[in-house]
Amino acid sequence: MTELRIAIVGFGKIARDQHVGAIAATPGATLAAVASRNASLPGLPHFESIEDLLEKGPPIDAVSLCTPPQVRRAQAAAALAAGKHVMLEKPPGTGVAELDPLVAMAADMKRTLFATWHSRYASAVEPARAWLAARRIVSVHINWKEDVRVWHPGQAWIWEPGGLGVFDPGINALSILTRILPKPVFVTSAELAFPSNCQAPIAADLTLSDIDGLPVTATFDFRQTGPQSWDIVVESDRGRMTLSRGGRRMAIDDEAVAEAPDEEYRELYRRFVELAATGASDVDLAPLRLVADAFLLGRRNVVEPFVD
Ligand code: NAP
Repeated sequence: MTELRIAIVGFGKIARDQHVGAIAATPGATLAAVASRNASLPGLPHFESIEDLLEKGPPIDAVSLCTPPQVRRAQAAAALAAGKHVMLEKPPGTGVAELDPLVAMAADMKRTLFATWHSRYASAVEPARAWLAARRIVSVHINWKEDVRVWHPGQAWIWEPGGLGVFDPGINALSILTRILPKPVFVTSAELAFPSNCQAPIAADLTLSDIDGLPVTATFDFRQTGPQSWDIVVESDRGRMTLSRGGRRMAIDDEAVAEAPDEEYRELYRRFVELAATGASDVDLAPLRLVADAFLLGRRNVVEPFVD
């Protein structure tokens, strides 16, 4: 197997916490360079921008874009134009339509565009999908509450237009929801709480449904201190399923039936290597469309300013 030589672009929290280790653990993948304005990794070629990387860097086959969403579209276009495979952190864009030209470009260039949804690779997500496929679903509730100061310290981009605010983690829940439910869902109403000094919501309550009128509710909150919640509870005709810990644990009527350690990013890179072998793309915009519709439909409530 030829090694996929990958450069990480945007060396921030997720690049350090997950991408470096996952690439090292993936057969067929090698970390070859880093492009980041301020950060670097000792022992690896470093460039301040993706343009410098593509022009002056060592030979690479792919880039993994770990920058904030606001700057990723232009970076993806530059990388595809240079003939590189592209892996996008979630969310895949700041808007839905900006992905269309990238998908077309990837197809023209016969290169991979992989819009990742790491939470879909949490260990209990596929067991949950299989369990639900054999049942009649009665209702769904998502409870996704975390402390933004713990998980996103100093990340000013998250509060800017396109930064998504609380939907930055909330879209992970929606990526699981759209994977485990048998039918597509859509947003019917949303209440969005915007701090008076921010351009993105700090909390959101959504109601969603499917063609059969399934009641789905979601509560996203960035102001949670103490215990954190990344839970999806599904009532069915034959028991209650709870997916917790961001999709890593599944319980039926409170009894754990699946739980495994976090290997989400290893799975993402395994998939990226597999896609790049043929130049196929994997871009599912369903979670991003739900967020976009929440912004379109949402009632905007102004709340107290947020100070990091
Ligand atoms: P982060 O810590 O802010 O890192 C992003 C890095 O991108 C920055 O450190 C910065 O490095 C670089 N960058 C380039 N242009 C930038 C700009 N205009 N503004 C700010 N930074 C810029 O963010 P992150 O938490 O790693 O998140 C990056 C992406 O990964 C987001 O889309 C997020 O949703 C996703 N993600 C994050 C997590 C998590 O737990 N943090 C989990 C899963 C996915 P330089 O200053 O060196 O250029």
